[in-house]
Amino acid sequence: MQLLDGKALSQSIQLELKAEVEQIVAQGGRPPHLVAVLVGEHPASASYVRNKMRACERANFRSSLKKLPVDIAQEDLLAEIASLNQDPEVDGYILQLPLPAHIDEQLVTQAVAPEKDVDGFHPYNLGQMLLGEDSYLPATPMGMITLLERYGMETSGKEAVVIGRSNIVGRPMSVLLSRKHPQGNCTVTVLHSRSQNMAEHCRRADIIVAAIGQANFLTADMVKEGAIILDVGINAIDDPKAKRGYRLVGDVDFEGVKEKVSAITPVPGGVGPMTVVSLLMNCLKAYKTGAGKALEK
Ligand code: NDP
Repeated sequence: MQLLDGKALSQSIQLELKAEVEQIVAQGGRPPHLVAVLVGEHPASASYVRNKMRACERANFRSSLKKLPVDIAQEDLLAEIASLNQDPEVDGYILQLPLPAHIDEQLVTQAVAPEKDVDGFHPYNLGQMLLGEDSYLPATPMGMITLLERYGMETSGKEAVVIGRSNIVGRPMSVLLSRKHPQGNCTVTVLHSRSQNMAEHCRRADIIVAAIGQANFLTADMVKEGAIILDVGINAIDDPKAKRGYRLVGDVDFEGVKEKVSAITPVPGGVGPMTVVSLLMNCLKAYKTGAGKALEK
């Protein structure tokens, strides 16, 4: 079994990005600048944002955290977004989800300038992806494709099953795995909460992407011998032995399936770090295409 070590790979990509930034700075440019907008004090969100800021530091990016109060009015959040859109010193930014219930997530996501949408959530970028045109790919699916690519895994002609159909993970991953691309060209089945015969579908799959948010959902009896497993889930389960009283597990019963599969991502240390480094890759791309300058008023 090959462990698809997203943590190690993301660190080596960060070093590549760092070298590129050093070159930009040596030639008189400024480093790329990523801004994270965090509304409220959601503990998991705060920890995800911290990881993103740390990755920026490691790659010599400039990073800023914009903390906004949980009860911010929607129009004030939209004003913040408009100001980030127009700031020539900001190349890309993310709105950390989830947003508080009184905020219309779709409306504010659409207010992000597509040129600075390094999370790849804007309908323009999702549409470009669907058309196979250049765009910012959504960070988590992009991270998984990069992982397959860097581990030299061609997927053409394979049967892929994606469990979960969210707009940020499952659905875009199903699009990427079916596009004409060395890490695409799969025959893709998308499963969700209304799917029947889940185990049967999974047992046919050469590649399974588990993105539902249920601890240890995918068990050994659902997996074909030699399958490749990408585990997106992040679930906290009680563990009295752990320092914080809980530990993080994925959607896959790692211990149960590990002897059966040919390759698998661990949780933590698999898809999560690849998501973070994808943001940086998208931000460098935004910097190079002059997203900041283009939108300056
Ligand atoms: P959502 O809650 O938005 O979507 C979950 C999807 O799973 C839905 O399509 C839902 O179906 C489906 N689903 C839920 N339960 C079942 C079930 N029992 N059987 C079949 N399908 C089911 O989640 P996200 O896509 O945002 O995230 C999924 C997981 O990945 C979470 O644990 C999240 O924390 C994690 N995550 C990890 C990231 C990383 O970087 N590692 C990044 C983003 C998310 P339906 O549509 O019918 O409701």
